[in-house]
Amino acid sequence: MNCEMHDVVVVGAGPCGSTAAYEIAKAGYDVLLLERDKVPGQFNSCGGGLGNFLLKKFDLPDSLVHKRINKVQLDITTKKKLYQADQPIYVSVKRTELDPFLARRAESVGAQLRCYQKAVDYDPFHKHVKVLDRATETHYQVGGKIVIFADGARSMAWQVCRIGVDHKRESIIGVAFELDYPDNPHEAFEFLFNGEKLPYGYYWVFPTTDTLNVGMGGPTAQLGGRIGKLLQEFIDSRDDLRGRKVVRKTSGLIPSYVADQLHGDGVLVVGDEIGRAHV
Ligand SMILES: Cc1cc2nc3c(=O)[nH]c(=O)nc-3n(C[C@H](O)[C@H](O)[C@H](O)COP(=O)(O)OP(=O)(O)OC[C@H]3O[C@@H](n4cnc5c(N)ncnc54)[C@H](O)[C@@H]3O)c2cc1C
Repeated sequence: MNCEMHDVVVVGAGPCGSTAAYEIAKAGYDVLLLERDKVPGQFNSCGGGLGNFLLKKFDLPDSLVHKRINKVQLDITTKKKLYQADQPIYVSVKRTELDPFLARRAESVGAQLRCYQKAVDYDPFHKHVKVLDRATETHYQVGGKIVIFADGARSMAWQVCRIGVDHKRESIIGVAFELDYPDNPHEAFEFLFNGEKLPYGYYWVFPTTDTLNVGMGGPTAQLGGRIGKLLQEFIDSRDDLRGRKVVRKTSGLIPSYVADQLHGDGVLVVGDEIGRAHV
């Protein structure tokens, strides 16, 4: 099979892959950015809570910000405490807006973004990535002097070269429901821990301008298989959440340990792949 060559191939146009592609393309290298979904961020799971400091650090525009949050409501087994700062600590964003922005920004400096292209295998000896074009259902190969895996918590890098995180080890599972709630009055990020009802794990409620992102996370071993049901019960238990239309449901793994090995010969992992990412 012929192999199309690039300086760098980045697998995954989430926040970390697109940021890596942006920085490397801006430095003048030829970068190919592969994304398995039709649009970056289409199915990526998140509460949408972003540290305010990240706006400046990653030069993100105000247009991505839904709410600036200076209040955090903690609820630990029904003991409530409201923390209020005099400036924003967090902002709320939507991954359906953030991820396309970051991918387009990488494109704007010369990276080649290809969506609906899934990396299905990697040959570490030749540094070739086998790609499935999901539109035509055909395969082709691309190669890079460096291949960067930024394909999230279930990355193939562990399977093919034993770098990054093994998602089967100690992962946390998370599920997020976005509830339709235009002009909601919520101004705080809420974190709820209930040692009686749920002795592990936590819930959150994060407001955007037109939705409430309600979710929960906890150890996969304890919550896997019933996390959606538990979240629905939590939603039904609250007057401000009950009965609202769910406009988006996503779930995913959150690695709970830091990978021992982050790179190999011509290959590198970034993002959730290393077990330390936040968007
Ligand atoms: C329920 C939940 C809620 C969360 N809430 C928050 C929060 O509020 N704030 C926060 O900071 N973090 C949150 N996180 C964590 C955050 O989502 C991740 O840390 C972040 O998305 C990691 O970014 P990434 O670019 O490494 O990977 P991802 O965002 O997972 O992006 C990986 C990309 O690679 C693509 N991809 C995967 N496999 C392939 C393949 N084989 N070929 C091509 N493309 C591929 C995917 O489609 C995706 O676009 C949450 C996680 C979950 C699961």
